[in-house]
Amino acid sequence: MANKSKFQAIRGTRDLLPPDTALWNRVEQTAHEVFTTYGYGEIRPPILEPTELFARAVGGDTDIVSKEMYTFIERSDELDLQPTLGDLGPFLQRVKELQESGQVPRDPVGLELVEAARKDVDAMLRSKQKSDEAWRKIIELIMLFDGLKLGNDISLRPEATASVCRAYIEHNMQQLPQPVKLYYMGPMFRRERPQKGRYRQFYQIGAEILGGPDAPAIDAELIEMLMTFFDKCGLQGTELSINSIGHAADNCRRGYVSLLRAELEKVKDKLGADSQRRIETNPLRVLDSKLEHEQAIIATLPRIADHLCDECKAHYAAVKHELEQRGVIYRENWRLVRGLDYYMRTTFEITAQGLGSQNSVCGGGRYDGLVELLGGPPTKGIGFAIGEDRLILSLQESGKGAAPQGRDVYIAWMGERAYATAIRAAKTLRKAGFSVELPATELKFGKALERASKLGSRFALILGDNEVQSGEWTLKNLATSEQQKLTEQALLDYLKSL
Ligand code: ATP
Ligand code: MG
Repeated sequence: MANKSKFQAIRGTRDLLPPDTALWNRVEQTAHEVFTTYGYGEIRPPILEPTELFARAVGGDTDIVSKEMYTFIERSDELDLQPTLGDLGPFLQRVKELQESGQVPRDPVGLELVEAARKDVDAMLRSKQKSDEAWRKIIELIMLFDGLKLGNDISLRPEATASVCRAYIEHNMQQLPQPVKLYYMGPMFRRERPQKGRYRQFYQIGAEILGGPDAPAIDAELIEMLMTFFDKCGLQGTELSINSIGHAADNCRRGYVSLLRAELEKVKDKLGADSQRRIETNPLRVLDSKLEHEQAIIATLPRIADHLCDECKAHYAAVKHELEQRGVIYRENWRLVRGLDYYMRTTFEITAQGLGSQNSVCGGGRYDGLVELLGGPPTKGIGFAIGEDRLILSLQESGKGAAPQGRDVYIAWMGERAYATAIRAAKTLRKAGFSVELPATELKFGKALERASKLGSRFALILGDNEVQSGEWTLKNLATSEQQKLTEQALLDYLKSL
């Protein structure tokens, strides 16, 4: 027997199926509605972006960029025109040039790589067929040599803030009335270890406010909107934590980080390997530690709130005051930090119940330097990203999941004339907004009613010769087994009245 192995969704990815997808749709619809009432417009950036965009925006040192991105090389259009199979094409020409100019290392490894690439091209040319596999190998080899870019390095997006900022710059949105308020939803990709609430393809719903003015009310309104959204979704046990991480200046965060580093050095021996390493690379990240034995030590460390500059301190106080005015309940968490320089001032996180250790459903913060970092004009920015998978999980855990979708009406028909009437009835009922199941083949009434129940239908409309002739249709309530005879119009009126 031929081996027909079954396919499975790739590790860390999954199918979202009915009835769950009804809940996904409800959540997304709620986001559209709530965000629209706050004056946000939807942006749908592409899922593929230049790898460099994320390297710069998310940071080359982060786990996301250094090991979690799905990155590949796309042949440039120039290469697609290749090769006219008669010559070796620009590829070997370039290799030759590079060897001559000394850019390709003349050590054994460098020479060997070039030789291998040559062989692949040769084989492809000899076979007179363009082999994708050979091209891929060649391009990968070529990418090893700096400056010889024959393809574009692109990645599946691990997050969308970078894309939104890129789009803001690309479409000159700084010329629009400021600030520009955008939201997005869609899949993100990170090669992480899959577990409950952590996937390699996951979904985020996020929003960004780009452009001035410099007002704490902007931060507070964004958070108010977020909490309103969670509330409308029916999310249970939400906790909003906020913090201010100041800004990257000596009299503010940088001063604090030096102090923190010095204090950490003193207790270095009691810390785990990760934290020890971070004392040098990124002392703020030590505060993220979840290690049990480090908690008591961390509790004694200096806190950033005591080291903010006057402006950042005032900003933080104003954001808290604005939140209170809006009735938003928060708690302060001085350990809530971000590792990158352009993050500043307000940072926040929301946790929800029923998620175990992956209980963060949303992270957000201010990032005034990011647009400039990506080549745009100096622009203020703040945003959040909600983990939709976790939001859905939490709703399901607290019994807010979607029930299997039944049908309003199942049409049990027998006979050709009844079938014609059934088709018409189905059309009329669907037009009125009812969900209708019209079986594609004739079934005995008993069998049809059985199916109707299995599908969770509320009513069965029974259409046989008698009904068609008399114009009096039989409607059976499947919960109570009550039957009534109704004309088409009366039936429609009755269903609408429910
Ligand atoms: P975590 O600490 O849980 O890894 P994170 O700091 O990496 O989260 P962000 O990059 O701030 O998360 O993304 C915002 C939200 O997206 C998170 O709060 C979480 O709900 C969700 N999220 C992040 N990574 C994943 C993933 N791999 N699978 C599912 N949801 C995720
Ligand atoms: Mg993460």
